[in-house]
Amino acid sequence: MSAVTAVSPGFAAQVIAWQKAKGRHDLPWQQSREPYHIWLSEIMLQQTQVRSVIPYYQRFLARFPTLAALAAAPLTSVLESWSGLGYYARARNLHLCAQTIVGDYGGSFPSDAQLTARLPGIGRSTAAAISVFAFGRRAAILDGNVRRVLARCFAVAGSASLAADQRRMWALAESLLPATELEAYTQGMMDLGATVCVHRQPACDRCPLASVCSARQQGRQAELPDRVMKKPLPQRNGSVIALTDGQQVLLERRPASGIWGGLLSLPELAPESADALAQRNGCRLLATTELPSISHRFTHFRLTLAVLQGDVQVVGRPAGEDRWQWLPLQHERIAEAALPTPIRRLLLSLRPAAGETAWPSPAVSRERRAATAQTLPLASDDRT
Ligand code: SF4
Repeated sequence: MSAVTAVSPGFAAQVIAWQKAKGRHDLPWQQSREPYHIWLSEIMLQQTQVRSVIPYYQRFLARFPTLAALAAAPLTSVLESWSGLGYYARARNLHLCAQTIVGDYGGSFPSDAQLTARLPGIGRSTAAAISVFAFGRRAAILDGNVRRVLARCFAVAGSASLAADQRRMWALAESLLPATELEAYTQGMMDLGATVCVHRQPACDRCPLASVCSARQQGRQAELPDRVMKKPLPQRNGSVIALTDGQQVLLERRPASGIWGGLLSLPELAPESADALAQRNGCRLLATTELPSISHRFTHFRLTLAVLQGDVQVVGRPAGEDRWQWLPLQHERIAEAALPTPIRRLLLSLRPAAGETAWPSPAVSRERRAATAQTLPLASDDRT
């Protein structure tokens, strides 16, 4: 840690000057000091890149223009607006947090970072960012990008998963805070981590910290920060069924907690048989076909789902339970529905082909699928 003392006096000034000259200034949420906007952007940016977030951020605010509107909305609407962004726990916590702020704080965000950090889904670093950008308070952030810049610049070894190492990094981040221009400094650290001191091949030749960076001087950019050793993920298996009459597919709303909580998904086959499931939803099962399985990586496990297609004829009224829904097999309806990413991908592969207005007959459908049968690609991220 001795390197901290040696370079810290000019550290913040270099970051601030660089941010003003070369940092990002045009992101939609940078045009606002409204805590709701800052909070929403910070939550959306967790695990997700800026260019993916921008359209979601704009659409979300158009649908829920205020924190009160978000709190009053049904969770299903919030999940629909989040659909495709992944990590749906963020959307559930966002909704719960909005309701907590309305219920416990009179609808206004607390300006104190320590209070904010106790709200659902908001950690210490996110609370600090809200405090800095919305309220001009003094607080240190330490997200993954900032941690990487600090670990390299000060050659700090240690793991983000060890509490003692975490405390050391937080102490370092706090010791570097400037007395003024907190906003430019905080944004500068975010920008540096996101655009210059990136994970692979950091652009040291255009980094404002190059002259004081220990990792650069020692040629240790690739080994810092320490990698978290990941254990192999446990495997779980399941079975789902796509009951379809060719125009629509039967979906089930999942319980609020657990994987894909609150989202629409294909019904799980166990404990119900395909026949029983069809009957309770007013259908007669005509034929079943095995579809390619789906593999998906969650944060803590890997899931493989066997998928069965059940061709049905609708003959009566469904049992009338709210959790069942028929979704038209139309691109825009599938795109808008609150579906887990791998299920959405599967449904898009089931819909009628371009130029067709209706679902092909079961026989043609089976032939087509047999010709193109392949395991859908494993999702490249661990979005839920
Ligand atoms: S000099 Fe290179 S390794 Fe050091 S902080 Fe800048 S980009 Fe990162």
